[in-house]
Amino acid sequence: MERPADLHVHTTASDGALTPTQVVRLAADVGLAAIGITDHDTVAGIDEALEAGKSAGVVVVPGVEISAIHGHNTEVHILGYYIDHRNRTLIDQLDVLRNARALRGRKMVERLNAVGIPVSFERVSEIAQGGAIGRPHVARALVEIGAASTIDAAFGRYLQEGAPGYVERYKVSLLEAVAMVLRAGGVACCAHVAKLNRDELLVELMREGMRAIEVRHPDHSPAGTKYYEQFAAKHNLIPTGGSDAHCIEGGKTTTVGGITVPFDIVERLQAESRAPSPGVWPTDAE
Ligand code: AMP
Ligand code: ZN
Ligand code: FE
Ligand code: FE
Repeated sequence: MERPADLHVHTTASDGALTPTQVVRLAADVGLAAIGITDHDTVAGIDEALEAGKSAGVVVVPGVEISAIHGHNTEVHILGYYIDHRNRTLIDQLDVLRNARALRGRKMVERLNAVGIPVSFERVSEIAQGGAIGRPHVARALVEIGAASTIDAAFGRYLQEGAPGYVERYKVSLLEAVAMVLRAGGVACCAHVAKLNRDELLVELMREGMRAIEVRHPDHSPAGTKYYEQFAAKHNLIPTGGSDAHCIEGGKTTTVGGITVPFDIVERLQAESRAPSPGVWPTDAE
């Protein structure tokens, strides 16, 4: 059988625990032909991943996962594949989101301090290793100081909506997230669509230029996967999928290569992209 692709993985550029190089090497070790690097609100890990892909013999699909808001309270994640990760407008827009994440990280720490939890922003930043700060970094800091026994417990007690450390995060609108991906030449893909379960939204996004949906994901039931495979076929959308691995010790268990799609999905995404091929960047000839 042809070696498969995992098109949804996080690294230390956002809230994953492995560096882009480590993730790509792991992809090679588990026999993947391709890996999509889809960090939250940043493309800071892409260059390193592309470089590692060359030596490891793994195709690296430059990606991003943008958290967007629809209406008042529907959170929708938009994946962008084969974006031009050096596009200045995209980088500037993502920087705004990244800075907002840092401020929100500080606020979360302040709220936790206010209820007597002695977690420090310095430690959270250290854990984040310069990556876009997210709740998993705070969760790891909480486990370290013994305020929670597991990452999951830290979320449940302190970080989920309504909990004492919860702070809402600044998000772009759904249509803006799709536009950001398209302007950078990428293929817009709605993430984990069976969790979202809003077909009318998908139809609206198709009108905006979305060309793919994430059909395979660890949080999808077999029935949900099947339903959206048929939905993708009916609407001529590219059916993507991946592990959404974060590789955090004590966190969710799905690892790199845990959920995959056939390699031809990668080829369809690349064919659909209008960005320069990451393999033929001018710097490669220098
Ligand atoms: P943020 O983007 O900072 O709001 O954090 C969201 C991230 O937290 C996502 O990547 C999820 O994978 C992760 N997450 C959400 N809930 C949990 C949980 N109960 N246990 C572990 N990770 C979680
Ligand atoms: Zn994450
Ligand atoms: Fe997501
Ligand atoms: Fe994700």
